[in-house]
Amino acid sequence: MSAIYPGSFDPVTYGHIDIARRSAKVFGRIIVAVLDNPDKTPLFDINERMALLREAFSQDTNIEVESFSGLLVDYAQQKGIGTIVRGLRGSEDIAKEMPYAIWNRKLSTELAIPVETVYFTAEPDLAHISSSIVKEVAAFVYPAGMSDTEITQAVPPIVCTALREKYI
Ligand code: ADP
Repeated sequence: MSAIYPGSFDPVTYGHIDIARRSAKVFGRIIVAVLDNPDKTPLFDINERMALLREAFSQDTNIEVESFSGLLVDYAQQKGIGTIVRGLRGSEDIAKEMPYAIWNRKLSTELAIPVETVYFTAEPDLAHISSSIVKEVAAFVYPAGMSDTEITQAVPPIVCTALREKYI
């Protein structure tokens, strides 16, 4: 069985990596699907985000990285995969996620592949990590020449390097 793990991944963190690996154990194969959203201006463009993800999962034979644009339910039809994986860090994620899960289920009821969303609870040691906070911290730490120890605990070394290059 396969599942799609969609997101912005701007950039990939150890929180994302944990969810992808745990869900790959449950479903057998995970497609990490990076949303290419023309309405948002990410720090890392779609090719950079995919390259960092591919590097992060280079040893994981059951995890693939792709990009998609448009509606997730349409991408799910294209792939023939009806299971979506998302991670939950706390009540804010639950509140944000529920309407998307309901919309995706409703939008797909008439389609060949009905889409259901399955949630994995964050690993407590990683539940405080978000791409946006990592970027906020990196934007101060790297230009100031401060220690990046906290960043190294949130993202893989290749992402630290990419963040340093963006902010220095
Ligand atoms: P979004 O897709 O909302 O733009 P992200 O790309 O950052 O957000 O995250 C993709 C998915 O990974 C979401 O389901 C999010 O809740 C989850 N996630 C992000 N960070 C973590 C973490 N530290 N632990 C567990 N899940 C996480």
